[in-house]
Amino acid sequence: MSTKNQDKIIEKISGNCSRCPGNCCRYIIVDLPTPRSRLDFDNYGWYLAHENTAIYMEEKKWYLVVDNKCRYLDEKNRCTVYDKRFQACRDHTDSDCEVDGRFEPDMAFRDPFKLQDFAEKKFSESARKRKLTLKNKSKAID
Ligand code: SF4
Ligand code: SF4
Repeated sequence: MSTKNQDKIIEKISGNCSRCPGNCCRYIIVDLPTPRSRLDFDNYGWYLAHENTAIYMEEKKWYLVVDNKCRYLDEKNRCTVYDKRFQACRDHTDSDCEVDGRFEPDMAFRDPFKLQDFAEKKFSESARKRKLTLKNKSKAID
């Protein structure tokens, strides 16, 4: 496809695309199961120990983000396989476009040890609540 035609198509999808450095082509994002155990958090910490990764939590859903440019984005920030692009690329719409920095996850981690601290706080809080519930139940029985 000629660059001129690509420009027209991209402009039609979003007026911002022609002025954007192809932000949405510079990372992958993968759904993660909700971490439930210390081992789950430890495994996610291991993901974060690798460069250019982040873990986001948004509306109770967890995601792994890897900042890594698509090999099909050219130096003019144009897709070189536009006709054959992937479903994830086709599904990306203006409403979830992050060009103006609208994306603000509820939580974001890049440091595995901050994720561990978060997990420890979460587990201590759950243990405290469980203890309180048991105490209240035993009071009700008395
Ligand atoms: S981040 Fe948004 S504006 Fe930029 S190329 Fe992707 S869809 Fe277009
Ligand atoms: S295939 Fe094209 S649209 Fe999809 S991420 Fe790569 S450069 Fe972007």
